[in-house]
Amino acid sequence: MNFGIRNKVALVAAASRGLGYATAMELAREGAQVAVCGRDEQRIHRAAAELSASTGGRILPVVADVEKAQDCEYFIAQAAETLGSVDILVTNAGGPPAGFFDDIDDESWALGFERTMMSAIRLIRAALPHMREKKWGRIVAITSISVKQPIPGLLLSNALRPGVVGMAKSLADEVALEGITINAVCPGWTATERVDEILQARAESRGISKQEAAAEIEQSIPMRRMAKPEELAAMVTFLCSARASYITGTTIQVDGGAFRGLM
Ligand code: NAD
Repeated sequence: MNFGIRNKVALVAAASRGLGYATAMELAREGAQVAVCGRDEQRIHRAAAELSASTGGRILPVVADVEKAQDCEYFIAQAAETLGSVDILVTNAGGPPAGFFDDIDDESWALGFERTMMSAIRLIRAALPHMREKKWGRIVAITSISVKQPIPGLLLSNALRPGVVGMAKSLADEVALEGITINAVCPGWTATERVDEILQARAESRGISKQEAAAEIEQSIPMRRMAKPEELAAMVTFLCSARASYITGTTIQVDGGAFRGLM
């Protein structure tokens, strides 16, 4: 299948590693020019150099913290100015702080809201005028399986990520006649550096090995394994493609069957 995005300009937020990085890699493999952002200058430049070396594609690194309003605008403006357009946007950020209801004070609620909801809103707001001008656009929000099935101990994710989906679903309706689609993807457990750190912490706190900590999680997944980052990236890239032209307002999990509901 030809995805039809050769030379399109794709922006992937929070992409110095993990799901964002894997998504940037797949988009670049499809021939898109890709702008990636991250907070740390050295890390985002290193990621861009690796992406470029692996794909031969044009990769633009931008230092931007998606928790800051002006940085979201800067990321979009830099990509538009340097690469000439903004055709595809993948929103992504670090996860909101973990915790149960009693652990979360007003400050953590506010931080979670800024990181999880406002980052997506601000990136989309800055990108939309460029897409409207060309009457073509693809937006994909990376969320979590928590939008379909709350995860114990991740109350902020369970409460705030569904807000991103609600925003995306509403916006899909508003921009449908302008050639712009917007969808959300829900990763289940995916073997990124962050998950490796979580497994390490679980292993240390419980006196078990990292492999045992991973096995406990994998037992709950019908496929009995975590995803590889590129498996999530493949879905995101398809939704960003020209071929996904009639798919909008959807929320699709990539979770090895872990979500137990019907839809
Ligand atoms: P990760 O920690 O491996 O990677 C996150 C990337 O985002 C890093 O490059 C980090 O530097 C960057 N980043 C973090 N905060 C940023 C900010 N404010 N501005 C710019 N860049 C920032 O995490 P991941 O596993 O790739 O997860 C990505 C997102 O998907 C997170 O929100 C995570 O909670 C969510 N998620 C992950 C999984 C999983 O199993 N990996 C499952 C469900 C949801």
